[in-house]
This record gives sequence, C-alpha cells and structure tokens, in this order.
Amino acid sequence: MEKQTDPVNTGKEIHRLCPLCGADNAKEKPSVYSKDQWIIKKCARCGLVYLENPASYEELEEIYAWEKTSLQVTEEKKKKESALRRGVRVIERYKDRLVRRDKLIDLAEKYFPAGPVIDVGCGGGEVLDRLDKRYIPSGIEVSKQLSRRAQKIAESRGGRVFCGNALLGLDSFEKDFFTAAIMSAYFEHETAPREVLQKIIRILRPGAPLVIKVPNYGCLNRIVMGQKWCGFRYPDHVNYWTPKTLNKIIKETGFEIVRFNFGDRFPTSDNMWLIARKPA
Ligand SMILES: [Zn+2]
Repeated sequence: MEKQTDPVNTGKEIHRLCPLCGADNAKEKPSVYSKDQWIIKKCARCGLVYLENPASYEELEEIYAWEKTSLQVTEEKKKKESALRRGVRVIERYKDRLVRRDKLIDLAEKYFPAGPVIDVGCGGGEVLDRLDKRYIPSGIEVSKQLSRRAQKIAESRGGRVFCGNALLGLDSFEKDFFTAAIMSAYFEHETAPREVLQKIIRILRPGAPLVIKVPNYGCLNRIVMGQKWCGFRYPDHVNYWTPKTLNKIIKETGFEIVRFNFGDRFPTSDNMWLIARKPA
C-alpha cells in the first residue's frame, strides 16, 4: 500500500480564531466532537462551533481532495449506520421526491433574475449544468480536477470557472456583475467565511440574491447521532453553522435576509437553506 502523508508533520496547519467574532479560543477545552488531531472548539464568546486547526488550502487540495474523502466517508457511514437510521434516510429521500424535484433549482428559478450567476464552490459543475437557460453560469472551485469539468460546462454557456480559493476567485470578477450567487455545500468548508461574504457582496448587483445550503449543526440528527452525524467531516468541514450563527454572519456582512423560515431550517433535516440579498 502507498504510504499516506501525515498532515501532522507537514507543519501547514493553521490556528484559527473564531471566524464569526474573532475571539481566540486557544484556552477553551476541545469539544467532544474533536477527532484524531482535529480540534473542534465552541467559541466562548459567540457560540460558533468550528475546526480550530484546519489544513491549509494547498494541503486540502492535495491530501484531502473532496472526491477522495467523500467516497471513504460514505462507505464508512454505510457500514456503521443502524437499520433505524437507514429507514429514516429512505423516508427523507422519498419525501424529497414527493415535495420537490430539486430545491436548489426551484429556488433559483423563483428568486434569480435572468443573467450571470456564480456558484461558489461549484465542484464539477453539477448545479451550473442544471440551471435554466436564462442563466449564464460561472463558478469557483479549489479542486483542479473538478474545476476542469465545471469549466467545460460554464464555457459552453458563456461563463467561466476560476480554479483556486474563493477569496482570490471572487476578486477576479467585476464589481456589481452577478444577478445571483449560490453557495451549496460550500460554506461549511470555508476557512474565511466572513471575508468571502464581503467579497460576494461586491460582485453582486444591488438587490441580487444569494442562496445558501449548509449542514445544520443545530439539527436533531446531530444531537441524536453525536459523532456519527453525517455533517461531521474531518478536516474538510471547518465551520458548523446553526440557524443562529448563520443568521448572524449574513447580517453582519451587510446582507438582508429574504427567506429563512421554519421549513428552511427544519430540525429533522441535516441541512438548512437561507436566501439573502445585497441591499438594493
Ligand atoms: Zn465567536
């Protein structure tokens, strides 16, 4: 077997202050959800739960390429999952099919005016590809392999994909350019969430919406399942948002909340949805 690089010895880990309020929680006790060398902290000042010593962008790209870890995690989770939990999952999926074909696409069509749309953390361009013809999709993706796939999709429809971290990527787009933005399964990965929101506001037109889908750390499954909750992923999930902390960072970075109702943060769902907008 090939020898794995040990991230502890690379010296590239970062000590992180609370990304929501800036407090240094170095002296606080690690949360019970810490695992191996990865230290989870609950901010003593604002309550945000976050990974204190994330791997650097470069390291994530090389060692923990999303496409590799997600496969491993899915297999592990399947093995550990109880029959009861499997049943709940089947019901959730069935409910999804009855209620909606694709919540993200439905929300886009309801809230996004026609024009250029950016998907921050676009992966292989799966969402870009599903957006209606009236949208010109662009994206940002840190994984080289995935961004190449996404670029083909964006290019064919007049957009482009930036390969690299979101802070650099957002700077590469024009001010007031996009009519809407998407962050789906991305905001839990971002080590600089406040800075990213501030940069997204810059490239959105006044009044343009931003749709966020993110795991809800406050959900019932996390409380019941504990460390086996599907929202834990080490070290690639670095922020564990709750309705309260998500709402706070959105408002503090200058967005207005358009929709964040009980159905968007339903306690039995592992994820929550928030629609914000740049003030008109
Ligand atoms: Zn804090």
